[in-house]
Amino acid sequence: MAEQTPMMRQYLEIKSGYPDAILFFRMGDFYEMFLDDALIAARILDITLTSRNKGSGDEIPFCGVPYHSVTPYIAKLIETGHKVAICEQVEDPKQTKGIVRREVVRVITPGLLIEAESLAPDENNYLLALCQGEGDQWGIAWLDLSTGEFRVTELNGGPAAAAEAVCVHPREILLGEGVELETLPADLRDFVTDKIVSRAPAWVYERDYTRSLVCDQFGAASPESLGLEQMPWGLIAAGAALHYLRENRKSAIPHIREIKVYQRSEHLALDPATRRNLEITATMSEGKKNGSLLGCLDRTSTSMGARRLKQWLSYPLVGLEPIRQRLYAVEELLEQAGVREELVAQLKGIADLERLNGRIGMASAGGRDLRAMHDSLQRIPALVDLLAPLQSDLLRSLCTAIDPLDELRNLIERGIVESPPFSLREGGIIATGYNEELDELRAISREGKGFIARLEAQERARTGISSLKIRYNKVFGYSIEITKSNLANVPEDYIRRQTLANAERYITQELKNYEEKILGAEDRICELEFTLFQEIREQVAAQSGRIARTADGLASLDVLVSLALVADERGYTKPQVDESDSIEITDGRHPVIESMKLGERFVPNDTRLDGAENQILMITGPNMAGKSTYMRQVALITLMAQAGSFVPAAAARIGIADRIFTRVGAGDNLARGQSTFMLEMMEAAGILRNATPRSLIVMDEIGRGTSTFDGVSIAWAVAEFIHDTPTCRSRTLFATHYHELAELATTRERIKNYTVAVREWNDQVIFLRTIVPGSASHSYGIQVARLAGMPRDVIERAKEILHNLERGEYEEGAPRLAKSRKTKSTEASPQFTLFESNEDLLRQRLKKLNLSVTTPLEALNLLDELKKMI
Ligand code: ADP
Ligand code: MG
Repeated sequence: MAEQTPMMRQYLEIKSGYPDAILFFRMGDFYEMFLDDALIAARILDITLTSRNKGSGDEIPFCGVPYHSVTPYIAKLIETGHKVAICEQVEDPKQTKGIVRREVVRVITPGLLIEAESLAPDENNYLLALCQGEGDQWGIAWLDLSTGEFRVTELNGGPAAAAEAVCVHPREILLGEGVELETLPADLRDFVTDKIVSRAPAWVYERDYTRSLVCDQFGAASPESLGLEQMPWGLIAAGAALHYLRENRKSAIPHIREIKVYQRSEHLALDPATRRNLEITATMSEGKKNGSLLGCLDRTSTSMGARRLKQWLSYPLVGLEPIRQRLYAVEELLEQAGVREELVAQLKGIADLERLNGRIGMASAGGRDLRAMHDSLQRIPALVDLLAPLQSDLLRSLCTAIDPLDELRNLIERGIVESPPFSLREGGIIATGYNEELDELRAISREGKGFIARLEAQERARTGISSLKIRYNKVFGYSIEITKSNLANVPEDYIRRQTLANAERYITQELKNYEEKILGAEDRICELEFTLFQEIREQVAAQSGRIARTADGLASLDVLVSLALVADERGYTKPQVDESDSIEITDGRHPVIESMKLGERFVPNDTRLDGAENQILMITGPNMAGKSTYMRQVALITLMAQAGSFVPAAAARIGIADRIFTRVGAGDNLARGQSTFMLEMMEAAGILRNATPRSLIVMDEIGRGTSTFDGVSIAWAVAEFIHDTPTCRSRTLFATHYHELAELATTRERIKNYTVAVREWNDQVIFLRTIVPGSASHSYGIQVARLAGMPRDVIERAKEILHNLERGEYEEGAPRLAKSRKTKSTEASPQFTLFESNEDLLRQRLKKLNLSVTTPLEALNLLDELKKMI
């Protein structure tokens, strides 16, 4: 590019500072993109690509978008994973000679969005910063710029850090320059790989620098006063996030004023697989909210509430007191149906105060935003009145947090018109009576317009030209327009200004005088209104702390109201939560499946789990019987209770769990495309390593991904481990279609057998969906295959093969299968096998027989019975 224009030189210089962003270069009414940026943007935005210096051999591709409708273009680029650097003219072009000075005023990245148009209302938009410390310690900080939420924690080990990152579900991840993805621990690498990764310079990750950034932002003298003294790496991650924010946002971020330091142990731990399997916030197959637990429970009225509910379900509690507080609040709102309905009515009229607060704080809010703030605040006094008589501690504290912010509401009411225009630069925003000077200027402008109308009438009379019009035009100002046919009657004192096809335009001295006055006033009005608006916005921004607290209170209130609403509609009950090791559920239902109304009535089931006799429930039964549904329902009820929700059951007692683990057999999560046996085993290994006696484990069809003998063996050994290992010994639901596993209960005291009742009828199977004590005697695979519409011949042939196989197992496979070094009973009776249940029964029956009281007839009958048995 031998002959660069000065403008191009300026462009290239600015662009060199933002190599990984698409540079929007402001030129007049357009943002232009050049070179590679233009090629990318033209394709994604579907806009015309042209070029400068056409045909010169030095062509520069470029494209552009109009500045006033730039938002959707930015949104589209961000959506496709790009960053956009906005470069503005920072001097008035009229007052500069040569080239206008330009600067990048902010960089928009996926994790730092604030525009309402680009954000899903019911989802947070997080940037997550990771920092690896010493001893495999990980600092994690995450923030939602649009709402001001900022959290930090520290975790030990890559898997724990990855689990947390998955839970946060960030839009963008920040790592240090030079941190190679390949060097990250496997779990983290897997998580980060397909995400948008941004980099901060390596020097940022330094103690003193990050400490000063964090203390500065949160107005603290030291990290200690923020509760960060035990989290050196968390502090660095938080500082790196703030650095990145400042670099890109380049404006004050007053609404980020609180840093929440948390420990993982404060919440019910759910590993990523469990979150997925239980479909807590998204369905497994499509990743949709609809069909998940969240989708089923969300009856919130505001987006703040919707986001908060998602957080409560993602981070259920483990502390008894806070759980009980939520439950009391829901109970009170459930009982007070009238109050609840009125609260809903008020909440529905409240806008997203968190995000409004963010936009106001970052000076990107318009008149409509302020007015939305006003209209929302207006509803708060009534809402507080409704809350005031309520008794539960949590509702009382929310009532105190929710602040009507009267003076702000008054300020906006007095200052901003009821329906302000979108633009901030063209006036019409500030209400009459707010500012004297503005009112005067408006009077002048109004008078001037009246004068113009009078002047027009006067000139028509004077010239006798009835088609004479006074027109206004941005470039030439006011003029008198006379059509060509009337030119003969134009008076002497008219001064010609402009010639059109059919008319001439003139001015007079009188018109010119007024023009100056009116236009002067109008310019001044726009300027003054803009200044006044900014002042009002700043006054509101100065209260961002109070607004944030109010928004926070409203979000929680909305969730509690929504939980009460759902509990009422679906007949949920209040769980009794305690620190026991029991989980006792009467008539429990699966919240999501029950609400889907699939035609089949949902059959409720009981559960009894504890650390003593009912530690492991071994649930056997055919495929499609309802095992998975049952186990998930127990896990979901536990999770709901710890999130503070009522539960779908007639009664429930939940001894708080520290973790919930679920492992779902390979066949059940094909959707992930990774249903390898290896993955299944890795997840199971993780469970056995991390589970505690306070945990709840759901093992669904473990070992299904391999051959039958392998599978049974692994499942068997895993169940034994959970039962026998004192540090593990978790409450466990163990489902398997290997009915052989029911034998375990005979050797392990805390294992209880359950099965899903089925009725056999005409060689068919009918699922009753009831969980009953006992075990299944068959897998019924062939019957299920018949239900699925397999051809008759295949079914018949399968039966034949099954028959042969089963005989084969009896003859040679079985004894080897059940033998164990440890199991005493096996050593005592070398004949014992899994599959000899008939012989067992025979033996038992004979043992019970008391010959001294048996009549000959009874003996004969017994003989007949025994014969049938074999
Ligand atoms: P399994 O794990 O035993 O193969 P699932 O739990 O996947 O069986 O359930 C099979 C089907 O039965 C599911 O589609 C579900 O809708 C239905 N189902 C399960 N439990 C019940 C129940 N308690 N009441 C009614 N329908 C149920
Ligand atoms: Mg299943």
